[in-house]
Amino acid sequence: STIIQTEGLTKVYGANGTAVHALRGIDLTVEKGEFVALIGPSGSGKSTLMAILGCLDLPTGGSYTLDGRQVQGLSGGDLARIRNEKVGFVFQSYNLLPKASIARNVELPMLYAGVGRRERRERALALLEKVGIADKADKLPGTLSGGQKQRVAVARALANEPALLLADEPTGALDSKTGAEVLDLFRELHRQGNTLLLVTHDPSIAAQAERRVEIRDGLIALAEGVA
Ligand code: ADP
Ligand code: ADP
Repeated sequence: STIIQTEGLTKVYGANGTAVHALRGIDLTVEKGEFVALIGPSGSGKSTLMAILGCLDLPTGGSYTLDGRQVQGLSGGDLARIRNEKVGFVFQSYNLLPKASIARNVELPMLYAGVGRRERRERALALLEKVGIADKADKLPGTLSGGQKQRVAVARALANEPALLLADEPTGALDSKTGAEVLDLFRELHRQGNTLLLVTHDPSIAAQAERRVEIRDGLIALAEGVA
């Protein structure tokens, strides 16, 4: 089945004289279980596209369907609901809460989704097991290495079993060995059937995805099939 389908997706920032056409007609389809790398030079529109695909922002034109739900034209509240239900995010900067334990950080999206306390704890521990740091559950983020923090962020992103996992430069703050280990984790999640979209400017990272889509000047410049 199809997770992402966009047709003629556009995004214009500002208005009239100062308008910036960040996306100029993106047609993108991602099937369930694919692992796609989104590449392109700085300013090409990658962040803008990620924000729209992740339901953080709305397009100004065209259509976007996420896991069967029409996204364009939604109100802010409906957009937030679809985002919480369908999308898990991993950022370069981890974005963990420093004063909450590792387990509590992973539980947070489940709290918002109304999952009960015991089930939250159980699922958080299972997710931490899956990403290889179950022994850190009751530590604070500040006690972990960068690679370990990113594993926590991945566990948190998976908390509500999202249809789509979006990662924006997830290895950008890591040394190459640790980055490769985090990428191995993404490849394992792909093998397990997760749908992943990863933004990177690093060709060696992009090469490990199943497919690469390159954005230039707000348009898809290259859509490459399975490697
Ligand atoms: P990338 O992630 O590939 O670096 P962006 O999506 O951040 O590209 O930016 C695409 C274009 O849109 C750039 O020209 C950028 O300056 C512009 N842009 C991005 N966000 C905004 C914004 N909030 N307001 C105005 N222009 C923006
Ligand atoms: P990156 O290339 O790492 O995505 P950017 O510098 O493109 O970072 O964007 C950083 C933030 O600034 C984003 O939130 C983006 O939307 C915003 N932004 C980028 N360009 C502009 C702009 N011309 N005007 C206003 N906001 C912008």
